[in-house]
Amino acid sequence: MLIVHKYGGTSVGSLERITNVATRVARARDEGNDVVVVVSAMSGETNKLIDFAKYFSENPSKREMDMLLSSGERVTAALLAIALQEQGVDAIAMTGRQAGIKTDRFHTYARIESIDPTAMNNEIAAGKVVVVAGFQGINEDGSVTTLGRGGSDLSAVAIAGALNADACEIYSDVDGIYTTDPRIEPKAQKMDFISYEEMLELASLGAKVLQNRSVELAKKLKVKIVAKSSFSDAEGTVIGEENKEMEEVLVSGIALDRNQARVTLRGVSDRPGIAAEIFNKLAHEQINVDMIIQNASNDGTTNLGFTVPQSELANAKAVMEAFDHDIGGMDFDDSVCKVSVVGVGMKSHSGVAAAAFTALANENINIEMISTSEIKISMVVAEKYAELAVRTLHSVYKLDQ
Ligand code: ADP
Ligand code: ASP
Ligand code: MG
Repeated sequence: MLIVHKYGGTSVGSLERITNVATRVARARDEGNDVVVVVSAMSGETNKLIDFAKYFSENPSKREMDMLLSSGERVTAALLAIALQEQGVDAIAMTGRQAGIKTDRFHTYARIESIDPTAMNNEIAAGKVVVVAGFQGINEDGSVTTLGRGGSDLSAVAIAGALNADACEIYSDVDGIYTTDPRIEPKAQKMDFISYEEMLELASLGAKVLQNRSVELAKKLKVKIVAKSSFSDAEGTVIGEENKEMEEVLVSGIALDRNQARVTLRGVSDRPGIAAEIFNKLAHEQINVDMIIQNASNDGTTNLGFTVPQSELANAKAVMEAFDHDIGGMDFDDSVCKVSVVGVGMKSHSGVAAAAFTALANENINIEMISTSEIKISMVVAEKYAELAVRTLHSVYKLDQ
């Protein structure tokens, strides 16, 4: 079998841990597999590099940021290859470019456009373990690009797809996908299986155990992901195609996104085109708007609320101030978070949302915004209630049993 292993920051967080990873890779080889390994930077390294750049500039050039950030993964790839060689395993480290990963031009958030697997295949055929620096590729100018935070997951899935690997095993400090973040709710239960669709919702709604774009790509390329721990031999969780025979679970998990900020616009002139103007301008500034609510109009004006990532709040503020002739008043609040309930079974059951609202009301947690789709319900609440809201929802759907 050909297996892709991906080790995240915690798993390669120290030299001892890199030795541990080398031992695991050597074992997979001894079991008769070809192995390609994708690594993250050592934990904390990417943030440290970002802080270095901020020392010089509030708004560093994105091209140079990619030069800088891609170095973290390069260090771990080289160290792991050396550690493997020391254990008698023939290994070769590659950068994203050397592994044939081409991306679009969008520095710091590039998309993978294609992978030329020739170099990796040649090394595999020569009996080597290929260790690829995750999170990076190269654009048509030949500049290094990075794939967005958590992007090594995406590198691993894309490589597994390009090499037609039998599985993509993603190793972190948890031994699988749980019904919610086990750091918040110790009673969370590990799942044996979760569908791409549900995992994509959980990841997009804040469960950072997998990067959402990696799940999207796995679904598209039909790459089987197995989420496992690099510190144990526990079974892990398979992420794959939903099986129609399986009984649809009503709710499969609860996600929390702390990176939310709320913008409230009061007394907005209620004329055709105003929402288009506001949201076009935000889109033009590449500000990601998530939930939107507009109240019923009253005396020719209306109230409009929406959420943006916390890191984009300052930009959103600047954009809104340019509209002040159309807006009576505005508030900005970055002490909010979003809790979400996810489950494919919601498609065919009623009362799921009502149960969530009742449970939060019983804890006196005020819901500031709500949005729903076929398989999820998201609610914005004050940040101070984040953990309580997650635990309350986790228990109301009996996920701890
Ligand atoms: P890595 O650094 O290896 O990429 P991450 O820190 O990105 O690992 O992801 C692992 C973390 O994801 C866990 O430590 C856990 O706290 C968090 N997490 C959030 N939601 C979940 C969930 N539903 N199941 C498991 N882990 C979760
Ligand atoms: N090192 C990068 C980050 O911290 C990519 C990754 O770990 O997946 O976002
Ligand atoms: Mg991660």
